[in-house]
Amino acid sequence: MNLELNIMIRPHWENDTISFIDYELNSPNITISSGEPMICRFDDAFGGLCPFPVMEYLKIEDEKGVLRYEENEIPSFNSGIKCFGYFPERAVEGTLRWCYRALPRVLPEGYRSSPYYDFRAEPGGLNGSGFFSFLLPATEKEMNVSLSWDMSCMPAGSRAIFSFGEGNIKKTMNVIDLGISLFTVGMIRAVENDSLGIYYLSEPEFQVGPIAEKLFPIFQYEKEYFNDPNASFKIFLRRDPFVISNGGSACRYAFISGYSAFGGFDPDKWFNTLLHEMTHTWPYMDDNNVGEGTWFTEGATEYYCTWLPYIGGFLDDDFTVKCLNEKIGKRYYQNPFREMPNMEIPKIQWKERHAQECPYGRGFLYLANTEAQLRRTGKGSIDDMIKQFGWDRPMHPEDWREFLRERLGQDAVVQFDEMTEGKLLEPDPDIFENRFRVVKDEIELNGQKVLSYHFETKNKKENHSNDK
Ligand SMILES: [Zn+2]
Repeated sequence: MNLELNIMIRPHWENDTISFIDYELNSPNITISSGEPMICRFDDAFGGLCPFPVMEYLKIEDEKGVLRYEENEIPSFNSGIKCFGYFPERAVEGTLRWCYRALPRVLPEGYRSSPYYDFRAEPGGLNGSGFFSFLLPATEKEMNVSLSWDMSCMPAGSRAIFSFGEGNIKKTMNVIDLGISLFTVGMIRAVENDSLGIYYLSEPEFQVGPIAEKLFPIFQYEKEYFNDPNASFKIFLRRDPFVISNGGSACRYAFISGYSAFGGFDPDKWFNTLLHEMTHTWPYMDDNNVGEGTWFTEGATEYYCTWLPYIGGFLDDDFTVKCLNEKIGKRYYQNPFREMPNMEIPKIQWKERHAQECPYGRGFLYLANTEAQLRRTGKGSIDDMIKQFGWDRPMHPEDWREFLRERLGQDAVVQFDEMTEGKLLEPDPDIFENRFRVVKDEIELNGQKVLSYHFETKNKKENHSNDK
């Protein structure tokens, strides 16, 4: 029998925003062996950038009354997120209940960063994630989750939307599904159709509608491409109280994107961010050992969010070439960390933005090269592999090696391992079905003259007679 987890969430409205949220959770059939934590808290994630919210009134009790506890760090499923267990001083009997109040995060002075999984209020409401709002059972087993919202302290017309559904939800999930989720609650504004919605709290200076209208048909095309007709996607917007914003954080079937309260918003850049984030719905490689799967999950997302809108006829050559020069040119070839091994990058990526971007460009180029190799030799497509896996069934690096070995032979496995070690990639001569020109450059990087490439549209050929 699955563990039962009941969650009641009661947001409290004050001064046009949410001043705190009360949480009440219980599990009638949880069993805790001696020496095991009752519940756990995920905290201090991504190099300390994402904390669990400040709590008040935490109380844990069972049928015999209040349970005193000791708090200790325990192993986390993810190397980037710390986990703290609450160990009871005596045996737990009957239904375990825990309740607390979570306060919106007060940002540290000078803060200007994503990720956006933290618990933040703004005019109109609050948004955050499962991991950084719920104290959760310390188990990876499936749970029958019953989540309900008590909106009695909220104004009429308020909505409460999790990435996995709006309002009260009953769903079988494990702690990770519940944790890697996003939500927004408050006086939500929305532009939505049956499968894609953009939800925001404050009215931004830019128009959300026209961007949503451009995304609707592309999302439709992508979900058909990945054979996922029932997919839906939610985009949450967050207003950042600092100048440099426009980042994004993804979870299954949703993501949250930031924009600055001080303006300076770039709609084209945001449109690209949205394309990237909604395409995250499909390609996925396990990355619990951070760095092992980043090149794939991010690289394949970059690949498909650039290539599919292009071959689907939604975006033209000029737009696509601009994307390639940004995503492969700037993020990879012009990246000072372009030869850093994949597993070294996580050690510095939350401090060095360029290092964090490297696996995106590297993975994109590597996958586009692999696609070109497969097509040239009539061995299918990377699609064959990517469509077999997903967030429900993550690919592992060994699955990818197996695919390469089977389709392209051992040389391809060696090339893959070299890529992970940071060896510089050159574009395959047939990259992107030869639809664009690939131009070799020499640039200065880390004080040295080095090889680089950029892309051009083919119709501009006559203007570039000097190209090598
Ligand atoms: Zn991404």
